[in-house]
Amino acid sequence: MERGSPKPAVERDGIVVGRQDYGESDRIVRVLTPGEGRVSLLARAARAAHSKWSGLDLGTRARIRSRRGRTDLETLVEVEVEDARVSLRSSLARLGLAAYGCEVCGALAREGYPEPRLYGLLETLLLLLDAADADPGDALRAGLEAKALTFAGVAPVLDRCVACGGAPEAEMCFAPGMGGLVHLRCQPSEGTRRYVTAAHAAALEAARRAPLRDLLDVTLPPGPPDVLHEAIAAHLGRALPSRAVLEALLQ
Ligand SMILES: [Zn+2]
Repeated sequence: MERGSPKPAVERDGIVVGRQDYGESDRIVRVLTPGEGRVSLLARAARAAHSKWSGLDLGTRARIRSRRGRTDLETLVEVEVEDARVSLRSSLARLGLAAYGCEVCGALAREGYPEPRLYGLLETLLLLLDAADADPGDALRAGLEAKALTFAGVAPVLDRCVACGGAPEAEMCFAPGMGGLVHLRCQPSEGTRRYVTAAHAAALEAARRAPLRDLLDVTLPPGPPDVLHEAIAAHLGRALPSRAVLEALLQ
């Protein structure tokens, strides 16, 4: 290639999973792609009025052209919005779950490695939420969390004790740092743990295995609502801010 000639553009499908202001008027847009996992792109002048990047909302799927520049960050060249998820934006509960799904799948995806299963999971969730005419039950959120952990290679253990391998008893603990259920007598002396019933754990395992579309109307048996988010936070080393927003929306 001749010196000074522009570098070839890269074209890929991606779902917007994060946006962050950058510099005085630019924005960094994070997208989840099937072939390269999480990709960060520089959207120049994205915060200006009438920006050509204004359609890149969280959850939007687009055909994206970008160009590699002098830095590691690719610069957006052209965007063709393929699905703006217009319907789900009419419900705060659905929008909150969509935003959480974007953050979960985006955070668990690697950069520069294929992540077709996390991409497929997020796309399925967003299609379901966009097509739904009622707000989903809490099993959909649990299914999203459990599948995302599984596709990231850290499946939560919900059908036995992670310490001794024994069958669940009626009252169990969930230890996020150990990645799953433990008997009360096997629970760690340190670290977070949550008390869960065997029935709640079995419902979480069923949600992990079921197709997302089968979970739309399903409600979990009583139990702490945040054990799988705590497993995600333990894996990432940080909690996801959109989880707190979702929690506030559902109260
Ligand atoms: Zn045990």
